[in-house]
Amino acid sequence: MTTGIWVLGDQLFAGQAALAKRQDQQADTPVLMIESRQHGQQRRYHAQKLVLVWSAMRHFAAELKGAGWTVSYEIAADFETPLRQWIQKQNITMLQVMEPSDRPFLTFLKQLDLPCDLELIPNNHFLWSIGDFNDWASDRKRLLMESFYREGRKRLNILMEGDAPIGGQWNFDKENRKPPKGDLDTPEPLTFEPDDITQAVIKAVQKATFPTFGAVEPFDWAVTRDQALQVLDHFITTRLPTFGSYQDAMVTGEDTLWHALLSPYLNLGLLQPLEVIEAVEKAYNEEDLPLNSIEGFIRQVMGWREYMRGLYWYVNEEYFERNFFDHDHPLPDWFWTGETEMNCLHQVISQVQRTGYGHHIQRLMVLANFSLIAGLQPQAVEDWFHAVFIDAYDWVMQTNVLGMGLFADGGMLASKPYSASANYVNRMSDYCKGCRYNHKQKTGDDACPFNFFYWNFLDRHRSKLQSQGRMSFILKNLDKMKREDLVEIRDRAAKFLAP
Ligand SMILES: Cc1cc2nc3c(=O)[nH]c(=O)nc-3n(C[C@H](O)[C@H](O)[C@H](O)COP(=O)(O)OP(=O)(O)OC[C@H]3O[C@@H](n4cnc5c(N)ncnc54)[C@H](O)[C@@H]3O)c2cc1C
Ligand code: SF4
Repeated sequence: MTTGIWVLGDQLFAGQAALAKRQDQQADTPVLMIESRQHGQQRRYHAQKLVLVWSAMRHFAAELKGAGWTVSYEIAADFETPLRQWIQKQNITMLQVMEPSDRPFLTFLKQLDLPCDLELIPNNHFLWSIGDFNDWASDRKRLLMESFYREGRKRLNILMEGDAPIGGQWNFDKENRKPPKGDLDTPEPLTFEPDDITQAVIKAVQKATFPTFGAVEPFDWAVTRDQALQVLDHFITTRLPTFGSYQDAMVTGEDTLWHALLSPYLNLGLLQPLEVIEAVEKAYNEEDLPLNSIEGFIRQVMGWREYMRGLYWYVNEEYFERNFFDHDHPLPDWFWTGETEMNCLHQVISQVQRTGYGHHIQRLMVLANFSLIAGLQPQAVEDWFHAVFIDAYDWVMQTNVLGMGLFADGGMLASKPYSASANYVNRMSDYCKGCRYNHKQKTGDDACPFNFFYWNFLDRHRSKLQSQGRMSFILKNLDKMKREDLVEIRDRAAKFLAP
């Protein structure tokens, strides 16, 4: 009887459930890791995402070997061939795998029909188990993130004074929407020189014959747990105090502002959510940091991240095909090149090409907002997001893009669509200043496409929007619009993305 463990590419922590279970039987437990080239071609992934995942895997394999595990590391065309060969060579009778975070991979695992038993060990990479989330969700009419977040704070006793939230309120979001006015003194992100392992992966990705997206270099992401911990520490000392106030701001040439840059590491397992939250809470207790920043950050990791993952496993498969507004426009080619005269989209897509990164408001209020109001097909948009971001995985992408970004689920996640005109982009960024379009105009040749698409979106979907909470108030403005303006808006919207 030999038990072996297959460590998946986003399970890179020594305490992951399958490894933890065999911690005292290392010598008798072969470990397998596989870099599958086929998996890297499922879509046009960002070149830096491939480098990050494969380099972090190679570093983690070396760490496991250093800790006494016998690790087979395979670079192969697919997963199945090296897996079967390893099972045979090592006489594996029981294969243990920590439950994958993504549903398609779980389906793949279950249909393998291997010549050994397969045991899936519950995933310990999140604060909430799938079962606990389902229990929380099953007796509720509305699955509000805010209720989930409060429950999490109470359960884990984070930022609490007895039964009450520290500071007397649960949420300080109102203080976290400062527009980027004047000269902002932004901190530099912590970067890392690629070592020999990373350089070898960069070369492999450069030589790859399959299509990728974006620039592979400069590559300066962390690739080990030790480096990821340095990023966390750097965030806490240089960014956390100001994180809250400018959380929604967007500035040309400022890729990261005060954002944490932690999602790539959290999603790979290099960092654990609880240690991140506790480190931030400790900093709050030891230094007198502003509560709006602390609470704002903890809400992201403890609230949004866990909620998105919980919902992803809670919903039925049909959720992923939802298209509430019946939007069917294909993605314009410039989503892949950034070559558009709309400066906000040009800036954000170019930044993602260069780095694989965009912060939340760039994703939500520029990329997803445009996709929503322009009527792009939701599953094509989801696939694009999944391709181009360095931190994208099925579990985090589906609910963020379909639910939060596009309202394709009809309001299961968001109480109203995150749709906005150029007014929002202009208030929260400096993009409009350098744009060929006029953010104030909704008609005329200089009209900003965010304006005519926005009003056209409200017009097209009036009946569906009427019942969505606060939307009825906004629809009243549509009623006040001049007839000829509305006709022109419809015409411009129809022509703008026409081939
Ligand atoms: C349309 C859309 C697509 C997104 N795609 C992804 C994705 O592919 N991968 C991903 O990790 N996040 C995604 N997010 C969530 C969020 O935008 C990113 O986690 C965040 O921008 C990562 O940068 P950061 O680490 O600097 O984040 P910060 O702004 O510093 O936030 C701190 C942390 O909070 C967590 N977080 C915050 N919001 C969310 C959220 N909505 N869902 C999950 N985690 C959250 C992340 O772990 C993040 O590292 C998406 C959001 C939207 C609206
Ligand atoms: S004017 Fe419109 S297209 Fe140009 S940057 Fe502003 S919102 Fe974007």
